Amino acid sequence: MIISELKPLFPEEYTDGGPLVIAGPCSAESETQVLDAAHALMNEGIRIFRAGVWKPRTKPGGFEGMGTPALEWLAEAKRQTGMLISTEVASARHLADAIDAGIDAVWIGARTSANPFAVQEIADFLVQLPAHRRDMLAVMVKNPVNTDLELWIGAIERIYGAGVRRIGAIHRGFSSYGEHVYRNMPEWRIPIELHRRLPEITMICDPSHIGGRRDLIAPLALQALRMNFDGLIIECHCNPESALSDSGQQITPSALGNIIKSIANRPETLSQEILADLRRQIDDIDDRLMDILAQRMAVAREIGRLKQENNMPVVQPKRYNSLINDRVETAAKLGLDAEFTKKILAGIHEESVRQQLNL
Ligand code: PEP
Ligand code: MN
Repeated sequence: MIISELKPLFPEEYTDGGPLVIAGPCSAESETQVLDAAHALMNEGIRIFRAGVWKPRTKPGGFEGMGTPALEWLAEAKRQTGMLISTEVASARHLADAIDAGIDAVWIGARTSANPFAVQEIADFLVQLPAHRRDMLAVMVKNPVNTDLELWIGAIERIYGAGVRRIGAIHRGFSSYGEHVYRNMPEWRIPIELHRRLPEITMICDPSHIGGRRDLIAPLALQALRMNFDGLIIECHCNPESALSDSGQQITPSALGNIIKSIANRPETLSQEILADLRRQIDDIDDRLMDILAQRMAVAREIGRLKQENNMPVVQPKRYNSLINDRVETAAKLGLDAEFTKKILAGIHEESVRQQLNL
């Protein structure tokens, strides 16, 4: 599908020439909490408010959001501050309620965009809206939880196919097994490739859900803007420690104000932050390398035990040579130097042999 002739995601006066910033709490918890956050953000110059009303929780028993009644609090925030309001929808019913409440923008969450049935249900609702209502609505599609670019593009195509022309893509990182520096791996090449394939789409980065930690918001936000993202969506709460969801990653409105100012005024400080962030990425990659090496050694020991039981020699040169050739070829495709690859493989093989002999 060719996606073209899109309209700006939001009218220009809401982006004010600078990067587009959407901010607000992870969840709408009470009317006071929503209004306090909205006023504080308005004072920091934010023009587009976010708050989750229905929260997809990994396990039952977590805070699942205040539901439809909370939409009225967002509408009140809009009346009081003039901000545009946005929330997450996961079904046609959510969307119908959000539209009734006068929502300006919705996003499809990462768990929903991974589900073509759910996205199609939302698209089927959008297509039958009166044209003027559909024209006003901005729809942002978060990347699916898994690293599947085609699934992300497919979700966007379903929304476009329903006649929506204000479309954004939100990069919120990708789930992976185990503990990492990031809550969700950035895998920047995926949003970059999405942008290459769909150049008209407004690209928004969600450093809150990528980082999962307050101190990672600033460097990730800057990195995204340096990579030419059009905007940011950032979780803000007046009292993050007491937040009912995602409390560790929410920042105060004034902290957001400081991040925006430092992005505009102090690129050198932020270069330090980027450097620190790149180092964290290296730390994280090294952790994964060690983990993979340990897994490989465990399999090698398993093979060693089998060889022992069957009286086979530990070193089998034919197997070793074909393994090296095979790996060097794969590594070359990934842009790795052949000599470097051979040196690493020789070291790994030597250690495997040592472990098999010491069983
Ligand atoms: C959110 O934005 O609060 C949210 C639930 O995000 P995601 O779908 O990225 O997990
Ligand atoms: Mn959240």
